[in-house]
Amino acid sequence: MFNSLSDRLAATFKNLRGRGRLSEADIDATVREIRRALLDADVAVPVVREFTRAVRERALGAEVSAALNPAQQVVKIVNDELVEILGGQTRPLSLAKNPPTVIMLAGLQGAGKTTLAGKLALALKEQGHTPLLVAADLQRPNAVTQLSVVAERAGVPVFAPHPGNTSAEDTDAVIGDPVGVARDGVGEARAKQHDVVIVDTAGRLGIDQVLMQQAADIRTAIDPDEVLFVIDAMIGQDAVSTASAFAEGVDFTGVVLSKLDGDARGGAALSVAKVTGRPIMFASTGEKLTDFEVFHPDRMASRILD
Ligand code: GDP
Repeated sequence: MFNSLSDRLAATFKNLRGRGRLSEADIDATVREIRRALLDADVAVPVVREFTRAVRERALGAEVSAALNPAQQVVKIVNDELVEILGGQTRPLSLAKNPPTVIMLAGLQGAGKTTLAGKLALALKEQGHTPLLVAADLQRPNAVTQLSVVAERAGVPVFAPHPGNTSAEDTDAVIGDPVGVARDGVGEARAKQHDVVIVDTAGRLGIDQVLMQQAADIRTAIDPDEVLFVIDAMIGQDAVSTASAFAEGVDFTGVVLSKLDGDARGGAALSVAKVTGRPIMFASTGEKLTDFEVFHPDRMASRILD
């Protein structure tokens, strides 16, 4: 995903190789190139501004080091600042003291929520948990079926509304009672002693008030331990405005970057943690249920700077 950004940064650092102490002008020129590389990769403008200011300040203040030459020092500073914009530390899923842990998924249609539900359920099952999937996306007639298919592939049960609720032709109407289904699903998990319940919710193609209100109502009804906002890393600059709208609308607790296997520029996805102040917790890297990993800011930074 970040090949072109990686190449650009590598070329910038290459220019510094074999150099003695860097002058202020050298540092400014380097920072300018980094700024351009980040902007061309679609990293959000305010994030780029803060990033480059931090890099410049630290590079100017860097002590002469016995261990690192100037080029290596700049690479280290850029690495540290990348880790920082990606959220710093790995943030594990917070599990409820009194199970079930309730995890709600939110995001636009096509972001990869349903697929993620299966991936997360499978990963949790492999860790010894007993997840239940809840199909509270009643917006698209086949969303319930799709979640059932994913659940079967993951080998976990699914709680779904009666089919009568999902057959309406008018896909713009709120069909059935997604809030009720979500609430009943969590009740089912409690009754059947599932220790985790993952609630899939509806998405639209763009932000809209009905969708956001529905997600907010579900959040209120089920009081989740985690609200994961799933975002397609390929949507470019729209990632930032979409993430901000969801941060305000449903107050999510963590981000999942999906489709990181794509070849889009991806920089906007890199901005999401910084812009919303919420950590990136997982990465989705393909269509298979095993194409899923815990997101480690340090490893992602190293991958970009590799
Ligand atoms: P939802 O509408 O948010 O529930 O999104 P879906 O889970 O239905 O995903 C939309 C499409 O993206 C499907 O065709 C998925 O197979 C595909 N998809 C989901 N996650 C990934 C991913 O990480 N990488 C790739 N390449 N495709 C994905």
